[in-house]
Amino acid sequence: MLLTVLGCSGSSPGPRAACSGYLLEADGFLLGIELGNGTLAEMQAVRDPFALDALLFSHLHPDHCADFSALTVLRRYHPAPTRDPRANRLPVYAPRDAPDRFVAAYSPDEADRATEDLTDVYEFHPLADGIVHIGPFEVTVATATHPCDAYSFRIVHGGRSLVYTGDTGVSPTLDKLAKGADTVLADTSWTHAASRQRDMHLSGVEAGQLAQAAGTGRLLVTHVLPWTDGAAVLAEAGEEFAGPIQLVVQGESFEI
Ligand SMILES: [Zn+2]
Ligand SMILES: [Zn+2]
Repeated sequence: MLLTVLGCSGSSPGPRAACSGYLLEADGFLLGIELGNGTLAEMQAVRDPFALDALLFSHLHPDHCADFSALTVLRRYHPAPTRDPRANRLPVYAPRDAPDRFVAAYSPDEADRATEDLTDVYEFHPLADGIVHIGPFEVTVATATHPCDAYSFRIVHGGRSLVYTGDTGVSPTLDKLAKGADTVLADTSWTHAASRQRDMHLSGVEAGQLAQAAGTGRLLVTHVLPWTDGAAVLAEAGEEFAGPIQLVVQGESFEI
């Protein structure tokens, strides 16, 4: 699997830094994971958005899905799409409120919302705990600890595994999901300061402990808030996790 970072700024974009968005590719299948603010611009710099075969959303906070409306405009109005978006509606795996959420974000007024459902160019699949197959990927979906309907994912292909925590606090469910994963891509928003919010995001210490307890092969730190010192977050994670660890950067790719 090839993982590409379209954006990794946590909760809000930073200077020339998009929010959460990733591409995961295997067997010629291109899966988009999250589509936060700024990620569609980055995607067009590296890939054709019409090459997407499916989209997967952990939850519906804007920093994970704000560019969905922009993708809708592109899919509806681009004069020369490389793949017909109506004959090939894009499968969207997302929390069950996604159709309403995306219609509300796209439609400018109540009259428009009354007739809009976005199903001309998308096909919505609500997420629930369990296993879902998306193209060549087996995705284990597990409820995250976050103040809304939110999920973490374990994505397996060809005997390799990637755990993407999404936004989450610590939990036994997450510990179990991450067990033995080759790579853990972890929401690591802030340092382990006593003032941090609980049941929301992982601190560097918590991400390091997660990776260490899971015996993961590699920890990728992401979703650091733009006003947080990424080096400090990385350093405290590194004190807990003995394996390879890295702060991801927009535009970077990783073989999983
Ligand atoms: Zn977030
Ligand atoms: Zn969130």
